[in-house]
Amino acid sequence: MTNDNPFEMVKQQISACSEYLHLPQNVEEYLKTPMREIHVAFPVRMDDGSFKVFQGYRVQYNNALGPTKGGIRFHPGETIDTIRSLAALMTWKCSLLDLPLGGGKGGVICNPKELSAGELERLSRAYIRAIYKVIGPDCDVPAPDVYTTPQIMAWMMDEYCTLVGHNACGVITGKPVVLGGSEGRGDATARGGWFVIREAAKDNNIDLAKAKIAVQGFGNAGSHAATLGKSFGCTIVAVSDSHGGVYNENGLDIPTLVAYKQKTGSVRDFPGAKNITNEELLELKVDILVPAALENAINASNADKVGAKIVAELANGPVSPEADAILFAKKIPVIPDFLCNSGGVTVSYFEMVQNFSLDRWDEESVRARLERKMTKAYHEVYAVAQEHSISLREAAYTLAMKRVVDAMKLRGWV
Ligand code: NAD
Repeated sequence: MTNDNPFEMVKQQISACSEYLHLPQNVEEYLKTPMREIHVAFPVRMDDGSFKVFQGYRVQYNNALGPTKGGIRFHPGETIDTIRSLAALMTWKCSLLDLPLGGGKGGVICNPKELSAGELERLSRAYIRAIYKVIGPDCDVPAPDVYTTPQIMAWMMDEYCTLVGHNACGVITGKPVVLGGSEGRGDATARGGWFVIREAAKDNNIDLAKAKIAVQGFGNAGSHAATLGKSFGCTIVAVSDSHGGVYNENGLDIPTLVAYKQKTGSVRDFPGAKNITNEELLELKVDILVPAALENAINASNADKVGAKIVAELANGPVSPEADAILFAKKIPVIPDFLCNSGGVTVSYFEMVQNFSLDRWDEESVRARLERKMTKAYHEVYAVAQEHSISLREAAYTLAMKRVVDAMKLRGWV
C-alpha cells in the first residue's frame, strides 16, 4: 500500500494519536477498522430503455457515540478506501464537536454530469433501495456531499419513507427546508469557520476590525466565507479561483464580486482589483489565510512563504503534513479542517434534532446554537494544545479520539 491510499493515511494518523494517548494495541486496531460496510450493485433503467448496473458503498465507521452520520458522494472515481477514510474523518469530526453521533460515508460510482434528471432520480432511489435496511433516523443518517444536492436528498428521503411505510424524514439531512431541512444550512460551513476564526484571532491578539483576510477558492465554502467576512468586521483583500486571484489592499466589494463571477465565470479582471496568481495569494502578508479550495494547496514547496498570521483550513486537507510541521515551527497556528469546516455537519445534526421533535427552528436560533458549538469546540482544542505544547491539529485528534475511546470503554467494547 502506498501513501496515496487515503485510508492508509488515516490509519497512520490513528497510530500517531494512539501512541500519544497510550492506547492498547487492540483499541488501536479497532479504531482502524470500519464497524460495518456494505457494497451494493443495482440496476437503473436509462432513458433509452436499457439497464445499467451501478456500484455503491455505505461505510458506518464507528457508532460508539451515536448514530453514524455522513454524506453520499456521486463520483466517477469513487473508491471504497476514499469512503472509509472520509467515514473515519466524520467520526472524529462529530466527536470533536461533541455531537451524539458516529461517523459514516457513502458513495456511488457514477458521473452525474452524464445523467438526465430522470436517470439521476432513478439512480438515487435505487441506491436507497439497496441500502435502506442499514440506514435510518436512529442508526445511520446520510447527507449531501460531492455532486449530491438537496433535490437528491428529497428523492432519497421519499424512497426510504415509501419502503418503511411511514414518515421518516429524519433519515437524511440537507433536505429542502419545506421537507424538514434546516434553515441556515447554506452557509453553515463558512459561518462555523468564522466563529472559530474569531476565537483564534482573540487568542493571537488579532483585532478582527483591522484584520485583512485572503480566501483561496471561491466556490461554495470560499464565496460564503468571503461574503460573511464583513459581518465579522474584517476586510477581504484577496480571493482566487482555479483561474487565478484578485487583490485590493483596501478590500474587495464581495457582493459585486460574487455577481461578477456568476456573469464571467471567474474572479479574474475584477474592476478595481489587481490580478494575482494563486501562489501570490498564499504569500500575502495578511492576518488570516483561508484555504477553501483544494487539498495540499500549502505544501513543502511553499509553506515557508506563507505570509499570514493564522491559517484557517476551510477546505479538507489544504495543508500537507510536511507544511503543517513547517508552519508549526514558524509559530503560525493552523486551525485544522475537521474543526474549521464542521459547521455543515453541526447544522445537519440540528436538522436531525428538529426532525426528531417535529419542530422547525428559525435561522437566528440555528446560528446561535452553531456559535455555541463551534466556540466551545475551539476553546477545548486550544486548551489541550496549550497544555501539551502541541499543534491545534494534534490537540483536535487527541480530543476527538479520546471521546470515542471513552465511549467504547464505557459500553464495554474494549
Ligand atoms: P466548490 O467546488 O464549490 O469550490 C471550489 C473552489 O475552488 C472553486 O471556486 C474553484 O474554482 C476553486 N479552485 C479550484 N482549484 C483551485 C486552485 N488551484 N486555486 C484556487 N482555487 C481553486 O467546493 P466547496 O464545496 O467550496 O469545497 C471546497 C473545499 O471545502 C473542499 O475541500 C471541501 O471538501 C471543503 N468543504 C466544503 C464544505 C461545504 O459545505 N461546501 C464542507 C466541508 C468541507
